[in-house]
Amino acid sequence: MTDQEPMPSPPAPSPLDQSAQFVKGVGPARLPLLQKLGVETVRDLLYYFPRSYADLSDQRTIAELQPGMLQTVVGEVVEMEGRTTASGKQLLSIVISDGQDVIEGVWFNQTFMARQLAYGMRVAFSGKPNWYRDHWQMSAPRVRPLRDDEATSENPIVPIYPLTQGLHAEAMRRIQRHVVETYAEQVEDCLPLTVRSRHDWPDLTTALRDMHMPPAPSRAEAARRRLAFEEFFILHVALTIARRDQQQVLAAPALATTEIIDAHIRQLFPFTLTRDQSRAIAQICKDMASERPMRRLLQADVGAGKTAVALYAMLLAVAHRHQAVLMAPTEVLARQHWRTVNEYLAQSRVRRSLLTGSLPPRQRRQTLGEIRMGQVDLVIGTQALIQNDVEFSRLGLVVIDEQHRFGVLQRGKVRQLGPEPHYLVMTATPIPRSIALTVFGDLDSTVIRELPPGRQPVVTKWVAEEKRANAYLHLHKELKRGQQLFVICPLVEESEGHDTKAAEQMYAELQASHLGAFRIGLLHGRLDDGVKVDVMNRFRERQLDILVATTVVEVGVDVPNATLMVIEHAERFGLSQLHQLRGRVSRGPVRGLCLLFAQATSPETAERLRLFVKTTNGFELAEHDLRLRGMGEFFGTRQHGFGSLRVAHLVKDQDLLSQAQADARELVQGDPGLRLPEHALLRAQVLRQYGDKLNLAAMG
Ligand code: ADP
Ligand code: MG
Repeated sequence: MTDQEPMPSPPAPSPLDQSAQFVKGVGPARLPLLQKLGVETVRDLLYYFPRSYADLSDQRTIAELQPGMLQTVVGEVVEMEGRTTASGKQLLSIVISDGQDVIEGVWFNQTFMARQLAYGMRVAFSGKPNWYRDHWQMSAPRVRPLRDDEATSENPIVPIYPLTQGLHAEAMRRIQRHVVETYAEQVEDCLPLTVRSRHDWPDLTTALRDMHMPPAPSRAEAARRRLAFEEFFILHVALTIARRDQQQVLAAPALATTEIIDAHIRQLFPFTLTRDQSRAIAQICKDMASERPMRRLLQADVGAGKTAVALYAMLLAVAHRHQAVLMAPTEVLARQHWRTVNEYLAQSRVRRSLLTGSLPPRQRRQTLGEIRMGQVDLVIGTQALIQNDVEFSRLGLVVIDEQHRFGVLQRGKVRQLGPEPHYLVMTATPIPRSIALTVFGDLDSTVIRELPPGRQPVVTKWVAEEKRANAYLHLHKELKRGQQLFVICPLVEESEGHDTKAAEQMYAELQASHLGAFRIGLLHGRLDDGVKVDVMNRFRERQLDILVATTVVEVGVDVPNATLMVIEHAERFGLSQLHQLRGRVSRGPVRGLCLLFAQATSPETAERLRLFVKTTNGFELAEHDLRLRGMGEFFGTRQHGFGSLRVAHLVKDQDLLSQAQADARELVQGDPGLRLPEHALLRAQVLRQYGDKLNLAAMG
């Protein structure tokens, strides 16, 4: 830009983008506390919603109180007393009377409560009363002083915000009340009017007000649904645009299969591909035959045979003199793929390399050089390494294994200067449709449900602790017959206050038990990669009979002779995770056995475990898991790509999700670049939230 050109004037800054510091009641002292909650700006505060609400609308006279429910009473302060208890605690007691009866509020170590109160003052107590000796008592009730003429409260629904150490509930409520009163008017509703009126949603200002200060619980839920719809809608506008962008890219090499190539690849496998595998391959071949880069998600239940499908695709690329790469999340898994692929390719001249962290630097440099020069056709390695270090000469296909840990495809991209490669993403966790649509909305999806012939479903049993000795006896017998056993524990070390059977402790216990005669190995996340690989190898080569392991075996290790599994503290695992674990003992022709030990089971846990014992359908288990444990737990990480879904729930709000998707598609079809003036706000919002993540080129 030259000096003569006028500078474009920057858009007027919105007061909502100011630092939260300038909100009344925040200031430099409280700002760091808010930052801990992820709040930087006024807008962040406005979108920092209550976790729940306390409904104080149930107001009664003291005579009408019921024990144990949240209720509110109003009365005059008739007694105030502070003293120190025998155990050294500060006890504050305040008694109020409603003219007929009295009730006592008690607080421990909160004598500051007394400061806002005085004899004769009218106050409201809200809490759960209990009958103590001869009178009603509330432990640490909410107290509100009332002016003489004031009713209990203007708004009996009190928001409960998630807090952090040093930030008090009441201070947060004051801040938020102020934010809503001052700024809710100023938000700009990015939902286009056509969409808003179609569903009769409240406008954004009303919705935000009702989230923070709902006049009734139903209003809060209506507001939440409107905001949830908006979250889904913006996401799907972004996804729809991203997909259109992708479909216009004609950069990938067209790698069509032929009868000769097909026959040549199939004869490498020691088995006939299942119908589902062949169907998946047909879809992949169709994708790869096009210059439009493939972006396909391959979901398969554990043991359904993804590796063969992935290898087919890689060999198809190689047949066209392109390179193919397979990225695994861990060294153990990269090596396992390497071993499998080498078995299939024993008679083949395909040039291949393994690239992992434990490769000596010199060899690594050499391998990287060969890949760059195009002297290697097929590369297998860990994701971290490949994304950071590798330059390819003619990359045609990227296969990403276990991608659900990383979220949208963008994060799995390989550095690539030349044409775009095709992408195939594999996951062993069956993903409910709602999630597939959302997290993987930029991918096409293929599902393999059918297991290879001759597989027998694993027998799963939940064993009571008293029956442990019996169970060991049975395992003893099976081990004697040459089977191998996984023992899975949830944590590495005894953590404070939990009676977790840590892997190390379990290892010691087993050695002392009558299974101690067998050869036992130990595998957990804190071991070096080299040690891990070594222990895995010894187990695979049957130099070990029993492998005590944390969940490192979860994601795909393959030891066909291991048909026995014990899962300790099964209550700590999600259903999908349990399903993955169990999948490890159904790899061969012998029927697998999976024994669960669980402790302190709540009714929900018991339900979960019973369902797990009953069904071996991974999709059913995944849906259930999601419903019970929520998305973060489901993905076992906060990196699940749902940062922008704050109030929307993928299970509860499925109806909203499909409406939002339909509306988004229709809108983008009519205005692909969101150039119409009535879409300007939407456009800004989409770019703000997803511009980087989805690489929305066409909107740039
Ligand atoms: P996953 O989808 O869990 O990664 P794998 O690709 O590791 O499954 O395959 C699991 C096992 O099934 C392997 O031992 C593999 O050799 C075998 N397998 C795969 N496809 C077939 C098939 N069509 N017929 C028989 N066995 C198969
Ligand atoms: Mg696998």
